Amino acid sequence: MQVAVLASGSKGNSVFVEMDGVRLLVDAGISARRIKKSLAEIAVEIDSLNAVFITHEHSDHVKGLATLCRQYHLPVYTRPDTLSCLLAKEKLPAECLHVIHEQLQLENLSVHTFGLSHDAADPVGYQIDGSRKCTVATDLGFVTGEVQAAIEGSDVLVLEANHDPDLLRRGSYPWPLKQRILGNHGHLSNHDAAWALVHMQQRPAKVFLAHLSEENNRPELAENTVRDILGEQGLSSAEIGLTLTLQDGMVSL
Ligand SMILES: [Zn+2]
Ligand SMILES: [Zn+2]
Repeated sequence: MQVAVLASGSKGNSVFVEMDGVRLLVDAGISARRIKKSLAEIAVEIDSLNAVFITHEHSDHVKGLATLCRQYHLPVYTRPDTLSCLLAKEKLPAECLHVIHEQLQLENLSVHTFGLSHDAADPVGYQIDGSRKCTVATDLGFVTGEVQAAIEGSDVLVLEANHDPDLLRRGSYPWPLKQRILGNHGHLSNHDAAWALVHMQQRPAKVFLAHLSEENNRPELAENTVRDILGEQGLSSAEIGLTLTLQDGMVSL
């Protein structure tokens, strides 16, 4: 299995997953050109992709989708309500658009959706199961029981650590936007990401901290918060390969 976060943050998101001979993207929120370039850096040809799964219709998750699909004729899977809300829908070849309900089989992989609490039509995370398990959970206001259950057993987990609430409160965002981010349908704090890891029965071998805010977070703050909370709970963060993701890609620690 190979997982690479090509871009992560409010300006664009895309995660590449290869497992059991199947190559897919979760979200296409950066240009098709950038996706092609980032994949080339890890020696993956863009036309070898099998499918794109979309979490929700916000532009930072779908910006590159229309061009990507037109150029490479990739099948796109998303929830029916998300599909109805896609602004770029008219620009997408109709034969590329597919809906996913709870689960679908993509060759050797089983892909499950799970609901997220976020201000979009029907936002979901994805659980990709094959010989290993990779889960992507970003853009969520809080960790519901459904999310906690979905991430359990992941070998690799891409988990949102969007903001530090104190930095956000002190920052320059207008109050309604601060309220949106802090609310139940906003984004996950560093603290809540850490507690999601604490509550797992078995922690993943690798965790990407994702969708970090450039304004309301700092990479070292996200990392330290997670390590401190795990440590306070008597759990070692040493066995977790913690990787920070940035808007333009990732930093391995
Ligand atoms: Zn987003
Ligand atoms: Zn969003």
